[in-house]
Amino acid sequence: MEKEELKNYLKAGKILGEVLKKAKKSIKPGQKLLEIAEKTEKDIISRGGAPAFPANLSKNHYAAHFTPSFEDEEVLGEKDLLTVDLGVHIDGFVADAAFTIDFSGENGKMIEASEDALEAALSVIKEGVEIRKIGKAIENAIKKKGFNPIQNLSGHGLERWTTHAVPSIPNIDNNDDRVLEDGMVIAIEPFATDGKGFVREGMQAEIFSLEEKRPVRNMDARKIISFIDETYHTLPFAERWLMDELKLSEFKRKIAMRELMQRKCINAFPILHEEEGRIVTQTETSVILNSGKLIRLV
Ligand code: MN
Ligand code: MN
Repeated sequence: MEKEELKNYLKAGKILGEVLKKAKKSIKPGQKLLEIAEKTEKDIISRGGAPAFPANLSKNHYAAHFTPSFEDEEVLGEKDLLTVDLGVHIDGFVADAAFTIDFSGENGKMIEASEDALEAALSVIKEGVEIRKIGKAIENAIKKKGFNPIQNLSGHGLERWTTHAVPSIPNIDNNDDRVLEDGMVIAIEPFATDGKGFVREGMQAEIFSLEEKRPVRNMDARKIISFIDETYHTLPFAERWLMDELKLSEFKRKIAMRELMQRKCINAFPILHEEEGRIVTQTETSVILNSGKLIRLV
């Protein structure tokens, strides 16, 4: 890996580590999810990074892709469990990490399951290891604690301006016998649950990314596309991030976003959730395989 590239990854990881540490201490029941999201995103910027994607705040049976909308009034409850999944990029080089906190005091073991699974995965990760073996290590660690890994969520490669690159890193033994190669940057993210271990898409989507810059008629849609392209490139963004900059009325923004979706200029990431009443925990970090060494970014 080139020196400059490595430097950017390390800086992204350092900032992300600091932001997550501060978030872990400061997040408390009674706070609005929207405030938590905005605070962590601002903290990333104030430390010299940029959010690689909107703050993902997954409560209880939510697993991924939830970020509060600009009008979200939801408050973190006394008995809630919350996963905070954040990304930082420096010039497009991304670090991605997550932790779960539990305010009920009843789900500590499930948090340990995803933490143990991450450690188990890190202990087998090296150049030449079959991808299925990482999944196997995660699956075993979670099952040992009496929970299920989420089989249709996985870790992933990281590339410049891309958060979901190959290879996909499964949370189960999926028979993938391809191997890790030197120079790969990967995020490993075990999810443990007391549910079946299979997430479904919800109706709501607040997170999007640029798919392709196709021609569109609507002037506001054109404005949105060029703003996204210049600011976020192909990294995910939140609809609320467009508001301050573009100064479009809600009505105009909704129409423009709908057109961009219909024309497949942008992708939506719907929320992913387990069955209601279940709990999901997640622990994530990003690593680089660099000349025989494993460098943990966070
Ligand atoms: Mn993540
Ligand atoms: Mn990830």
